[in-house]
Amino acid sequence: MKSGFVAVAGKPNVGKSTLINALMKRKVVIVSDKPQTTRNRINCVLTTPEAQIVLVDTPGIHKPLHKFGEYMVKIAVNALKGQDLILFLIDPIDMVRESDLNIAKIIKESNIPTILVINKIDAATPQQIQEAENRIKPVLEDSIIAEYKISALTGENLSELLEKIIEVLPEGPQYYPEDMTTDRPLAFMISEIIREKIFHLTSEEIPHSTAVVVEEITDKEDLVYIRAEIYVERQSQKGIIIGQKGRMIKKIGMLARKELEAILDDKVYLDLYVKVKDKWRQKDSIIMNTIGLRDDLE
Ligand code: GDP
Ligand code: MG
Repeated sequence: MKSGFVAVAGKPNVGKSTLINALMKRKVVIVSDKPQTTRNRINCVLTTPEAQIVLVDTPGIHKPLHKFGEYMVKIAVNALKGQDLILFLIDPIDMVRESDLNIAKIIKESNIPTILVINKIDAATPQQIQEAENRIKPVLEDSIIAEYKISALTGENLSELLEKIIEVLPEGPQYYPEDMTTDRPLAFMISEIIREKIFHLTSEEIPHSTAVVVEEITDKEDLVYIRAEIYVERQSQKGIIIGQKGRMIKKIGMLARKELEAILDDKVYLDLYVKVKDKWRQKDSIIMNTIGLRDDLE
């Protein structure tokens, strides 16, 4: 099984939503144009016989031009952490503009393998397509592992693109139930927030295959009780996440709790456990637990 997180990047109107819908083969998502919040980060889970592709939005990399100082670039690069692959969409009809170049710069700095996707070839002229390639490719340099010219609207070359995505994804577990297509069940969102804190605080030592499984969400009278288990692959990673005298796990928990309280608009008690996962757990338990969760708090 292959699995991973695929960021769909590109300026507004390049066709991100259209592409996601086309890959999912049905209308499941409307990528919001509202300012990105954690709430609308996760878009879709696409499960095929060989792979599970989690298509995610890319908050923070579509900010207005004038905000793009070095600091903003760093934040944007950080926001991409944990992604296995980026699909970078370009609209050749609209020309390659500074906003595209900014995103390209962030992508390059992120060092995440990227597929350049020239969209709207049904409507663009060959000259426009050539021009777009000429302008964007030098900025991306060797971040690009492949390039596809597609039409998200008509479906041209989409199966080739999908095949490539699966080819380059790492081996990994099926994170979510296969019938889960749409985004943002509460448990999923919570686990993503916790994962995000883990990556921000622990850096490279923790692999992206780390899974967070929300075991319980109970709406109590004066707070929401959440119990989640963090699965790592090795004992040493467990040590890193727990930290000296439990400092790291406390920090992860505190930051995640603050964000959850803001989103749920309620007090949150967050109970975190770190476990070393084995193959059996990977296959059955994680998936079963995700299915069984309540989603009625949202
Ligand atoms: P997003 O803002 O990146 O999510 O872009 P959308 O998916 O909302 O698409 C913006 C507009 O571009 C819509 O009117 C789409 O119908 C149109 N569009 C998207 N993909 C294509 C394509 O392959 N060809 C053409 N001609 N139009 C497209
Ligand atoms: Mg859209």
